[in-house]
Amino acid sequence: MEVETYTGGPFQENGYLAVCSATGKAIVIDPGAWAPRLAGKIREEEIDVAAIVLTHAHLDHVEGVPAIREVTDAPIHLHPTDRPLYDGADRQAAAFGIPFKGPLPPPEKSLGHAQIFRFGQEELRVREAPGHAPGHVILISDAHRLAFVGDVVFMGSIGRTDLPGGDFQQLMASIREEVLSLPDDFRLLTGHGPETTVGQERAGNPFLRPNLRGGFA
Ligand SMILES: [Zn+2]
Ligand SMILES: [Zn+2]
Repeated sequence: MEVETYTGGPFQENGYLAVCSATGKAIVIDPGAWAPRLAGKIREEEIDVAAIVLTHAHLDHVEGVPAIREVTDAPIHLHPTDRPLYDGADRQAAAFGIPFKGPLPPPEKSLGHAQIFRFGQEELRVREAPGHAPGHVILISDAHRLAFVGDVVFMGSIGRTDLPGGDFQQLMASIREEVLSLPDDFRLLTGHGPETTVGQERAGNPFLRPNLRGGFA
């Protein structure tokens, strides 16, 4: 699997193009403000996009869905619990003062806990990881020893929990059960900032250290 990172917009959101090396089938994860750039590449290189996969429905992770859908009919995958956020993308934009004109195309497929998401010869394990957003999921590739973790955990930080549907205790449980349960060498491809690893965050993330706020992890 080849993974390309795309970053852009006022929140410097990271999204990903993941391509199955054996078959050329691709998925787009969390298309943000940068999506028109990737759409151009998809059109020019005739990339075979099998799915648009959303870790959660905050505006910065979904605002590029229309641009990708202009160049592919690939179905949109979202956890149903984040559907209200997704349908309220206009309200999210207004709250942040960001110009955005909805509505977004409705998701055709849902993501759920313990589901195996397949594209080409690749498999991603879907795990629910609520707390930053109520329907947040992470996607794990055991074969490539990496996880797309959206806004659950970042290098040296964790997702904010002050937005509607956020819950700090729930986020810490998600990090403990779904992220820190992975082996230390697993790469974490995050929704903002540089990539990191499970081991680096286990050892050095101040929110996950004992005796601090995140002592439960
Ligand atoms: Zn978010
Ligand atoms: Zn984000």
